[in-house]
Amino acid sequence: MKPTEPSFRESVDIMFNRAVALMDLSPGLEEKIRVCNATYTVRFGVRLRGKIETFTGYRSVHSEHMEPVKGGIRFATSVSQNEVEALAALMTYKCALVETPFGGSKGGLCIDPRDWEEHEMEQITRRFAYELAKRDLINPSQNVPAPDMGTGEREMAWIADQYRRMNTTDINANACVTGKPANAGGIQGRVEATGRGVQYALREFFRHPRDVAAANLSGTLEGKRVVVQGLGNVGYHAAKFLQEEDGAKVTGIIERDGALHDEAGLDVEAVKAWIGKHGGVAGFPDATHHADGATVLEAECDILIPAALEGVIHLGNAERIRAPLIIEAANGPVTAGADEVLRARGTVIIPDMYANAGGVTVSYFEWVKNLSHIRFGRMQRRQEEARHLLIVSELERLSRDTGTGWELSPDFKDRYLRGADELELVRSGLDDTMRIAYQSMSQVWHERADVQDLRTAAYLVAIDRVAKSYKAKGL
Ligand code: NAD
Repeated sequence: MKPTEPSFRESVDIMFNRAVALMDLSPGLEEKIRVCNATYTVRFGVRLRGKIETFTGYRSVHSEHMEPVKGGIRFATSVSQNEVEALAALMTYKCALVETPFGGSKGGLCIDPRDWEEHEMEQITRRFAYELAKRDLINPSQNVPAPDMGTGEREMAWIADQYRRMNTTDINANACVTGKPANAGGIQGRVEATGRGVQYALREFFRHPRDVAAANLSGTLEGKRVVVQGLGNVGYHAAKFLQEEDGAKVTGIIERDGALHDEAGLDVEAVKAWIGKHGGVAGFPDATHHADGATVLEAECDILIPAALEGVIHLGNAERIRAPLIIEAANGPVTAGADEVLRARGTVIIPDMYANAGGVTVSYFEWVKNLSHIRFGRMQRRQEEARHLLIVSELERLSRDTGTGWELSPDFKDRYLRGADELELVRSGLDDTMRIAYQSMSQVWHERADVQDLRTAAYLVAIDRVAKSYKAKGL
């Protein structure tokens, strides 16, 4: 990265400033929305392998215009106050854009989870959770974390259990964190949610011919060449669904140890299995391996999905990025400088605050489920089935009585008679959320002559909602 490149947090501020310059907010309110309310830094010791190891963690609260505040916990060596604050700010705007009733927060622990055994990770995670929970930085009504890079269901289950032990009489304890395993208060479809959201976002994009044309593309997702960076939770699910369900062709996969490239298309499931077994993509048969993975970001393709970490498209490589459409599955993968270069070249960027909002959307459903203490669909599913059966039986009776000989196909009957289960309801809610949020962004993009891109449009929609919420509070 060139030395003139702004930091991740500065990038978020630059993008924010570009949007508020087009708005009519008082300078005081503008500043109130931009700044991060508080960041808590904790250094704690855990006795491991015969000595005390000290870890540094953060939990940043960007905006409390709505509570609880929401945002993932990241486990990575790159975690810093700067990074956590940038991610917390993005959470505020993301929640506003997809209309989840939360403020923005984010947490992180400086650690490489691969350095530690499972039981050691449990000790470390529980201790971190203890430090946060005792300051209400984990709390069902104030601050609700979720998974992010380096964390998943396992860590969320430990955190929930730790909170429960500290709050034995809190009937809503399960709602203190989302992304829990299904058998420990989680919700169907949360693991895949962010990748699924990326798929739904692209589907909605391709429903808007004008937007598709702006990216110099045409048609549908069928046959589109996709390059994905990071085959972790988000990248794997996005690539898998696009390949299996939309007919897209995954021609490049970039991981820590290099990249695979094959114009004929890579088998995402097979690559994932290979990584699971060998720890990386190197050696995967039937594809070209590039030791310098970043070069594949510059490969010719239709859709580039950075789904690993921030700042990977920067002033140093922006000019060479050939994809006409970038969907930011990761947070902050395009720096503010690169964003300017790409905008000038006509590249369409579907911004992070929208593109990866599937995670927080399904987290919202999980939180609601935990607070209502009942799984979605439990009350109405069979009743819905009974009513559908009533219609089908009546149609069949009419057909018999009138001798028309009409018959409903068995496939139609099967699908129509089945009441929606939790997973179907979650997908339906996620799809609806992604469609509506896209439409609100796209509308601003096209209706306002001074808005040239989806990112500025997304910021405008989000900031306007946060501003209204502050104004309603009398600020
Ligand atoms: P993850 O840890 O599951 O996966 C990250 C993947 O990126 C891993 O496969 C890792 O090997 C790979 N990677 C790491 N460094 C790399 C590099 N230099 N080059 C190429 N690949 C590299 O993390 P995740 O949960 O999938 O998160 C990825 C991104 O998506 C992050 O920016 C995160 O903030 C964002 N995000 C995640 C969620 C979620 O629900 N998990 C929600 C919203 C946003």
